[in-house]
Amino acid sequence: MTERTYTGGCHCGQVRFECTTDLAMVTACNCSICTKKGLHFTFLPPAAFQLRAGEENLHEYLFNRHAIRHQLCVDCGVEVFARGRKPDGSEVVALNVSCIDGIELAKLTMTPIDGRAL
Ligand SMILES: [Zn+2]
Repeated sequence: MTERTYTGGCHCGQVRFECTTDLAMVTACNCSICTKKGLHFTFLPPAAFQLRAGEENLHEYLFNRHAIRHQLCVDCGVEVFARGRKPDGSEVVALNVSCIDGIELAKLTMTPIDGRAL
């Protein structure tokens, strides 16, 4: 897929973002949080992700080693994105692709991730 700019947000619309991605790699992960929340992430450098609205509406959820900072809308509860670090230490944004406007999950190619084993 080619790289393009997408807009999106949480369910109630208070949190809004814009991002540039090719959606080449979307996770289908079996870890506890991805399974329970039905999360499919794509990973972006922070410069390719701009929060356009709702910064003050975000709640940060941490668990386990607190390595990934999950960002949830406090009103509708949707997890829009998370912040973390790659193994080399650089910052990365994990975007919940289900929050992209008009996305159809069935049309994406998912990459299986064995998060349960990590
Ligand atoms: Zn919301």
